Order: sequence, then C-alpha cells, then structure tokens
Amino acid sequence: MKCPLCNSEAIGFLKWIQKRYAFRTDCNNCGAHLKANMLVYVGFVITVLVSISTIPYLDEIYNFLGFELEPKKLKIVIIFPVMLLGGVIIWFVGGYKVQK
Ligand SMILES: [Zn+2]
Repeated sequence: MKCPLCNSEAIGFLKWIQKRYAFRTDCNNCGAHLKANMLVYVGFVITVLVSISTIPYLDEIYNFLGFELEPKKLKIVIIFPVMLLGGVIIWFVGGYKVQK
C-alpha cells in the first residue's frame, strides 16, 4: 500500500494483514505516521459482516463437502479464505492518509 506523502510502497501485503498495521503504520520509506483511510474501515466492517453471515451455512457446507473434521476447526478453515479475500480487496481499494 502506498504512502500518500512520498508515494512509495509504505508496507508490504504480508505485514499489512498482520496485527493492526492495516489501520496504523509508519511508512517504510519516509517514516511518516500513517492512518488507514475510510475505505479500509468500511471494507473491514463489510468483511467481518460477510464472514459472520457465512457461519449459519457452514454446517451445510461441510456436510455437503463430506468433511469429517472437528466442526470448530473447520469453521475457521472456511472463514479464513473469506477474510483473506476481503483483505485482498481492501488492499487494492484502500489506502493511508498521513496522521497529524
Ligand atoms: Zn512515505
């Protein structure tokens, strides 16, 4: 994701998806304090809502797929790609603004 101040890559995707770097980080290049813009927050809320809304269907999904795994673990396995997909979309549409 680019830094609005120096226009260089402020952070890599693998670091960005960890912890709270998506919301607050320092630019790799110029060290500016950066804060997520509104699109990141909106995208995050949508991703969480979509992930939660898939939970009632997870029992059907794993019955359909015929998995014999422990349901709790499997739910995480299915939710994770949904959240990751949301993360990738946010990565492309979102951005940072310089924190004052
Ligand atoms: Zn920068």
